[in-house]
Amino acid sequence: MKRLLLAVLFPSLTACAAGPEVAVDVGHSLKATGARSASGQTEFSFNQRQARQLSQALTARGIGTVLIGELGEMDKLTDRTDKASAQRLFVSVHHDSVQPQYLAEAGRFHGYSVFVSRRNPYPEASLACARRIAAALQQRGESPTMHHHEAIAGENRPFADEALGVYWFDDLVVLRTARQPAVLVEHGVIVNAQEEKRLAEPAVERKLAEAVADGVQACLPALPQR
Ligand SMILES: [Zn+2]
Repeated sequence: MKRLLLAVLFPSLTACAAGPEVAVDVGHSLKATGARSASGQTEFSFNQRQARQLSQALTARGIGTVLIGELGEMDKLTDRTDKASAQRLFVSVHHDSVQPQYLAEAGRFHGYSVFVSRRNPYPEASLACARRIAAALQQRGESPTMHHHEAIAGENRPFADEALGVYWFDDLVVLRTARQPAVLVEHGVIVNAQEEKRLAEPAVERKLAEAVADGVQACLPALPQR
């Protein structure tokens, strides 16, 4: 009864009392910074800002989060999924690149993509969340990039849902070793100078965070309880 009363008065408080539900993983680290943007910024710096925005957007909806690797201190990928073992969903935040032979024409690559693994313990639930997130991104005017499907070394990813821009990436370490459903979101292609500029705008960061939060909020009720 007491708990019910608390839930009515302080919904976000009781959500926190049950423990944060979502692990928000900041892709890469200060030592291994990921892709290099068109203007020379690290992917990690984009991921850090975007992950903080996502955490804020989820917290504002009463969904508790744990930020993983927020300060760039996580160099071992399995440390990330170990640290997230108590959460119900693992969301890894990244920004995209292209294969080296395409860097000179990077301007033609743009859009988000979402990855899931069939080696995760919950591939179907992961895919359901990925679809919700991708649909929410499209609803807010974003479009997927198809370049990970090209039959070349380093890409060649099968579509899990082509229209939504969701791919299988079975051996992606954080997706495979997560204890819960897991998705990795590439928010856009930062080696494209125009897209980099857009992705660095605070209003765009917020919009993308709200979209991913929409998707997470929509898929969370159907996920296994902890
Ligand atoms: Zn990355």
